[in-house]
Amino acid sequence: MENWGLITYRTTSLLFDKKISSLQLKKGVAYVVCHELAHQWFGNLVTMEWWDDLWLKEGFATWIGWFAVDKLFPELDVWTSFVTEDMPRALTLDALRSSHPIEVAVGEAEEIRQIFGEFGRIGLICLSLFLIVFVDAISYTKGASVIRMLSSWLGVDVFLAGTRRYLHRHKYQNAKTLDLWNALSEEAGVDVGVFMHLWTKRVGYPVVDVVSLDEVTIEVRQSRYLSTGDVAESEDETTWWIPLNIASSPSALTLTDKTNTFKLSSSVFKLNARQTGLYRVNYSIDILKTLAEEIKKGKDGILSDPTDRIGLLSDAASLSVSGQKKTSGLLELLRAFEKEENYFVWSKISVILSNISSAWFEQPMEVRDGLKALHRHLFGPLVAKFGWEMMPGEDDQTTLLRGLAITNAGIGSDPETVTEAKRRFWKLVRDDDAEVLHPNLRRAVYGIALRNSDGDGSEEYDAILKLYEDPTLSPEQKMTALHGLGLVQTPELFRRTIELSLDDKRVRRQDTGYIYAALSKNSTSRITFWEWLTANFDAIESRYSEQSFIFGTLLNYSIEGLGSHQRIQEAENFLKRRNTKAYQRALDQGLESARIYSRWVERDREDVAAWFNKEGFI
Ligand SMILES: [Zn+2]
Repeated sequence: MENWGLITYRTTSLLFDKKISSLQLKKGVAYVVCHELAHQWFGNLVTMEWWDDLWLKEGFATWIGWFAVDKLFPELDVWTSFVTEDMPRALTLDALRSSHPIEVAVGEAEEIRQIFGEFGRIGLICLSLFLIVFVDAISYTKGASVIRMLSSWLGVDVFLAGTRRYLHRHKYQNAKTLDLWNALSEEAGVDVGVFMHLWTKRVGYPVVDVVSLDEVTIEVRQSRYLSTGDVAESEDETTWWIPLNIASSPSALTLTDKTNTFKLSSSVFKLNARQTGLYRVNYSIDILKTLAEEIKKGKDGILSDPTDRIGLLSDAASLSVSGQKKTSGLLELLRAFEKEENYFVWSKISVILSNISSAWFEQPMEVRDGLKALHRHLFGPLVAKFGWEMMPGEDDQTTLLRGLAITNAGIGSDPETVTEAKRRFWKLVRDDDAEVLHPNLRRAVYGIALRNSDGDGSEEYDAILKLYEDPTLSPEQKMTALHGLGLVQTPELFRRTIELSLDDKRVRRQDTGYIYAALSKNSTSRITFWEWLTANFDAIESRYSEQSFIFGTLLNYSIEGLGSHQRIQEAENFLKRRNTKAYQRALDQGLESARIYSRWVERDREDVAAWFNKEGFI
């Protein structure tokens, strides 16, 4: 919390020890410290006039926070990380009808709490398990993404000079979004407010459809992107200002109409170079095929920057959810990455596979086995290449990639990975040999141990519980163990985890989110968890009466993964009978997401099964 002159932190957001902490925590701590320091200017020196302009402090502190970490620790490659882990949160939330504009009209205190609540819901798992910051993905991450888009278009130096002008002019006072646009416009000599106000005042963002008219001419068309894929004319009235940033084309082209044609200097191109723009790109199949060939060329292709490969994957994944592309096409695209070396690109691939596995959790075993086989096929070779031990002088990205590879090969039940994970797990807990398991690998190994137990999992469970209750372990390691207890595979262990979560003496209420998030994502326990939650609704709700946004987050997580249309309908009927005003936005977003995933599976389940068959994965 950024109190002026007295910044305060949760211990897990501040304490880092390179011997016992994970690399994710290193990045997280560096970022949180820089974010809070940035608030001394954005928020404290200049304060927003009212909560409508929350983004003026949070969007800026987010962007400046990463900007500072990038200067201090360039090896962390935080902008690639931003494109991989942060932007998708804003893009996913803002593709829902239940989203809201960056500048959102805020009336009463409850609404402020709801807006702050959103980030926690989405960030809890994706950002970092250990940085639960209950804030809003739109004000924070969409805000920061809009700043990044504008600053890269104006040039960072011009942007920073304009920002200094804004701070000097409004110091020790309040300011509005228009004040920022005015200062930037004076510095840049361009009226930025004219095109930027749509990005902050209107909900959503565009998808840009691209087709080739001839070798060097493309036609580009923009419309609002919705994950439901069914935008109505009345919802598509905004014409956004879109910097096209075409890799391989030197001129700065912008799309300012609904449709336009552009001449390029090459027939091989990609829009939104380095993913600085906040939009999706939907290429025609022939352009996509050319781009898949570019991926295989590695450093010699036009997609040599990892952010461009990540952007391509990210867009392809979203367009398959919304039905503008087939999921089999996405799976085909993944195979172009077999020689990939960048950690963040693999991290994106891992998220895509995890989303498909999560949505497909009730599909026939044969198809789910196909997904496991694809995990093994892609990640098994990486485990073989990097092994389990850190090399002397190894860079952070390699260490992270090893952990990611082991996690995914474990999900794919890769026999060698499972055997080695179990061996190390027992060595850690029986011989108390902390050296055997690097902090980056623990989360993966707890999951593998529980899923592949030789017994009913209770021995592994007791061992992880003991780690959680070990007072000598760091807060991060304790939370990793607590999360592990939500990866249970049997009804008996589920019951024990629930009991533990209700015991205030053993688990602080603020930490129960780790357990509930894991139970909601766990495909074995998520339906039982929802049934337990509805059966005990009033009691659980009253436990969080002071923190309704945590309860909203919890509901959002568990509703999102309900799967069948009938279950979603029952959930909606159940909730309609209650007073849910305090966390209505979280509920609406959860129900909308659940329906999107359910329709995605209905639409593409045969397409995916056929692809696995054709490619020999089942
Ligand atoms: Zn902040």
